[in-house]
Amino acid sequence: MSIVQVDTIPVKGTRNIVICKSCSKPEYWGEMRWLSGRCVCRDCYKADYERSTGKAYIWTDLDGKRPTMDEYNRQEE
Ligand SMILES: [Zn+2]
Repeated sequence: MSIVQVDTIPVKGTRNIVICKSCSKPEYWGEMRWLSGRCVCRDCYKADYERSTGKAYIWTDLDGKRPTMDEYNRQEE
């Protein structure tokens, strides 16, 4: 018996950074949100919420630092 590993990109730094398929911006893997069966970044999640409800997203759980393309590239080196 072996433990099934979640398939993620290799860890080079301390954090996993992935590219959001919806907006092509880098996001931390652990911060990705599920939205209608897709995995999207916080910005997309928030934008979709505001678009679909017509209200501002008032919670702060989507705040915080976003990874940069630079960080993503360094991770991929
Ligand atoms: Zn996105």
